[in-house]
Amino acid sequence: MTTAVAGPVSGTGGDVAVTCDFCGREAGGEKMPLTWTTAVESGRQRRFCDLCSREHLRAMESKLDSEWW
Ligand SMILES: [Zn+2]
Repeated sequence: MTTAVAGPVSGTGGDVAVTCDFCGREAGGEKMPLTWTTAVESGRQRRFCDLCSREHLRAMESKLDSEWW
């Protein structure tokens, strides 16, 4: 399990392609896959794909900003 903020992404406009904020991978759809995670860093919402989420799970659980990954 992950402690990252989960749930629907609100306030993103709707039909904007979802892109991983870490590796830049696109979700290939309008909605963020359930395997992706979101986090809020410095008041900005970030999205991470399933691969990045898994790879950086420990850092995310430690509430480290991705700058420190
Ligand atoms: Zn990624």
